[in-house]
Amino acid sequence: SRPSDRTPAPPHVELAGVTRTFGTTLALAGVDLAVPAGSLTVIVGPSGCGKSTILRMIAGLDAPDSGTLRIAGDDVTARAAGERDVAMVFQDYALFPHMTVEGNISFGLRLQARHHRRSGPGRDEIRARVGEVCALLGLDNLLHRRPAQLSGGQRQRVALARAIVRRPALLLLDEPLSALDPQLRASARAEIRRLHRELGTTLVLVTHDQHEALSMATHLIVMDQGTVAQSGNPGELYRHPCNELVATFLGTPRMNLHDRDGVRIGWRPADGRSATHRDGVPPGAFLVDGVVESCEFTGDGQHARCAGPDGTFVLVQREGESWLEPGDTARVTVPAARLHRFGPDGRRLP
Ligand code: ATP
Repeated sequence: SRPSDRTPAPPHVELAGVTRTFGTTLALAGVDLAVPAGSLTVIVGPSGCGKSTILRMIAGLDAPDSGTLRIAGDDVTARAAGERDVAMVFQDYALFPHMTVEGNISFGLRLQARHHRRSGPGRDEIRARVGEVCALLGLDNLLHRRPAQLSGGQRQRVALARAIVRRPALLLLDEPLSALDPQLRASARAEIRRLHRELGTTLVLVTHDQHEALSMATHLIVMDQGTVAQSGNPGELYRHPCNELVATFLGTPRMNLHDRDGVRIGWRPADGRSATHRDGVPPGAFLVDGVVESCEFTGDGQHARCAGPDGTFVLVQREGESWLEPGDTARVTVPAARLHRFGPDGRRLP
């Protein structure tokens, strides 16, 4: 294995026992989490689970009721936003509408120059650094436009440029792709991953989209109702979800679940194999019979929703496998190694 697999990176950000209440809403109910240095950490979870509140706390825009927050080993719980080496990109990008692209991107540096005449960046340095990030993000030809004259994807890149031009050690992105259409989202995901590699900074991104989370994260944190449900390598979370919530939240179509003798058996739709009554069932494999209720064509195959003895399940059929129609009977086997078992409390069983 690579050295990075053996020696975990030291945490860049650590939250320990962090709670936050808004009125009667317990937004964070004792959060413990670590963001490995240099990682692209994605915090994902259903709406209202506390993702944005965590990001705002790391940025210093909100404070915990109790618990501690460390950045690069320092306890910054009581430190103001301006005293943390952190930049945040907001969901709506929050660009200044009356300023050009160049003005928006250079704003923070110009402010620094004004406040720290001696140590702040000079005019030439500002121009050079703005030029550098504009080249990195392909904004060279848009410097004199105002935000209203830009597409959604271009606005997002300006917001990113404005954040990274300050060269923060830690970059926070709150739902950075939510304003983009699906096609732009795919290229923006790749862009953010590239940016992360090239900058070498720690990046924390918040999203409610599990696909975005799985495809971008080097470190994934799944939240549920104000606590961390599971964290780790995305592949590990997908293959060994610690409970039913993580199991069904990650992956589409979602994991099928069957109640059998007090145990809940889970399998991912793509792990099922169509079988006939003549086929034998491999040892330890799971077998379920159903009747096809509806089919969805996906281009390279189909998703068949079936009614079984203990509820509905979805089967993924690939090109070349037998084509299913509503009313057909479906027999599915799932290899033992692809089965997940959960106890009555939803926790994964060994
Ligand atoms: P979403 O994906 O919808 O943005 P989220 O996971 O980011 O959700 P948060 O914005 O962190 O969730 O909110 C967590 C909980 O705290 C929610 O129940 C929300 O209604 C509540 N909350 C957040 N900010 C405030 C506030 N300023 N006043 C009152 N309640 C708040």
